[in-house]
Amino acid sequence: MNSEELFEKSKKYVPGGVHSPVRSFKGLHTTPRFINRAEGAMTWDEDGKNYVDFCMSFGPLIHGHKDPDVKKAIEGALERGWSYGACEKYSLELAEYMVDRLCFIDQVRFMNSGTEAVMTAVRLARGITGREKIIKFNGCYHGHLDGMLIKAGSGLAGTADASSKGVTAKQAADTLIVELGDLAAVEECFKAHPGQVAAIFIEPLPANNGLLVQGTEYLQGLRRLCDKYGALLVFDEVISGFRVHFGGMACLSGVTPDLVTYGKIIGGGMPVGAVAGKRAHMEFLAPVGPVYQAGTLSGNPVAMAAGLANMKKLTPDAYKRLDQYSEEIVKLFSEWSESHGFQDYGIQRFGSLFWAAPTKEKLTNITQIPNNLNERFYELFKVFLNKGIYLAPNAWEVGFVSLSHDEKILKELRKRLWD
Ligand SMILES: *Cc1c(COP(=O)(O)O)cnc(C)c1O
Repeated sequence: MNSEELFEKSKKYVPGGVHSPVRSFKGLHTTPRFINRAEGAMTWDEDGKNYVDFCMSFGPLIHGHKDPDVKKAIEGALERGWSYGACEKYSLELAEYMVDRLCFIDQVRFMNSGTEAVMTAVRLARGITGREKIIKFNGCYHGHLDGMLIKAGSGLAGTADASSKGVTAKQAADTLIVELGDLAAVEECFKAHPGQVAAIFIEPLPANNGLLVQGTEYLQGLRRLCDKYGALLVFDEVISGFRVHFGGMACLSGVTPDLVTYGKIIGGGMPVGAVAGKRAHMEFLAPVGPVYQAGTLSGNPVAMAAGLANMKKLTPDAYKRLDQYSEEIVKLFSEWSESHGFQDYGIQRFGSLFWAAPTKEKLTNITQIPNNLNERFYELFKVFLNKGIYLAPNAWEVGFVSLSHDEKILKELRKRLWD
């Protein structure tokens, strides 16, 4: 069966034919491609076509598909068994590897997804502070837990409403929405809800509604406000962690969060999420503390082994190469778009994350994103897909460069773009 037939069949058995909505190619007037196999920077679909992949499983595969060292680690763990629901060494080794290298954490708790990590961090922040409300920013995504599926009202805090049916008014009321980049609005929010805000949650590198790079002074300002009003600062580094730097934005910016959430790269393509922080905060978690958190498959040996193997290859030299590949690829895309009907396009880039949008301006806030983004993206996506270049199938998703996107792939890209 080809992709079209498989998708038709899937829609019979699965809502919308997918297990995560963004995979459905909604609004792109074509069928999602069913991937048959992948290696390095390339994927092959069920129709026999191949692609240079810039989705990379939405971020985890920083070394590319089917990295041989990660594969070996998975096979090694698999050989012994794949789930014990008991203590094992794999999760200890991964925890030790992280804590030894990240100065802002003493302890880590593993779970199975980024959503779970944020869910735990929300409960933990509330348990630590004894407060109920959280601040989140318009344009930041923190997974699909109820309290984070809240979109902004306009301007200052207060008028939050849910982005999803099924989220209760009570849950929405506990999430205060503020525009990115506006410290005064954050302070207003604290003042409007005195003694009630448990934490600020932010993607320190917002990369889920386009790429909206924030300045270091802004993150420093959030740190100051948290200290002033007794709230925790939580960095959601599910995308940025181990990608922009081994220590994520916390290391790059020098701004120390109280709690950090991880996902994506931490599992090397296996389902892993994590919450990390200082011992005094982390030991609020059960079984030591009063905040409950658990998981049948948490710290899964195969996933832990994959995560550790993935991480061990992230040397300073790896980050240098990643940045160099990314720069060259973005340069190539820019050169191509100037002469192929996409002159209105610009590319926002931060390390190995990039995002194309029909503007040359640097964007830092969701309100600055051009209105024609979706219709222009559809055109770009179609051209790229035909040329065998796979972008994440949604205008708001960023592109991911991996360490497999090397000089050879750059040459292949040039060929595909200009052919
Ligand atoms: C992907 C992502 C999540 C959700 O992680 P899942 O593993 O998809 O549940 C949360 N926060 C950020 C910043 C993310 O990029």
